Amino acid sequence: MTPPRGGEAELQPPRPSRWACEVLVVGGGPAGASAAYWLANAGVDVLVVEKKHYPREKTCGDGLTPRSVHQLEQMGLADDLAQHHRCKGLRANAYGRTIAMS
Ligand SMILES: Cc1cc2nc3c(=O)[nH]c(=O)nc-3n(C[C@H](O)[C@H](O)[C@H](O)COP(=O)(O)OP(=O)(O)OC[C@H]3O[C@@H](n4cnc5c(N)ncnc54)[C@H](O)[C@@H]3O)c2cc1C
Repeated sequence: MTPPRGGEAELQPPRPSRWACEVLVVGGGPAGASAAYWLANAGVDVLVVEKKHYPREKTCGDGLTPRSVHQLEQMGLADDLAQHHRCKGLRANAYGRTIAMS
């Protein structure tokens, strides 16, 4: 896209009809997306702005703690989660030591 001459567009306030909201969430990661979900669920007019494109490129171990799973289930994602493997414990090995958690 060609930038406007003199950068006028950057100095313009957002158009209310397009951008007005009660709550603006900056960042659509797990925290922002969850906050926006619950706000919208409560009837709040919420807008999320995310600087990256979805799906976000992000380094991750792809593991969810029980509390995270519970939160996602509360957001109606139980069926999606059920398609993935569920671990019932965790064993960590490092420096000759082993810690087992269940
Ligand atoms: C290597 C690594 C592995 C991990 N593995 C796991 C794991 O296996 N399981 C797990 O549960 N957690 C894991 N985590 C932790 C998990 O990634 C974080 O807890 C989680 O991403 C935090 O969510 P967040 O929404 O607070 O922040 P973020 O995920 O960082 O989201 C913030 C978002 O805000 C956006 N943003 C920032 N500034 C702006 C701006 N000015 N305008 C618009 N958008 C903006 C960013 O693009 C980003 O998408 C891992 C973390 C790392 C580093």
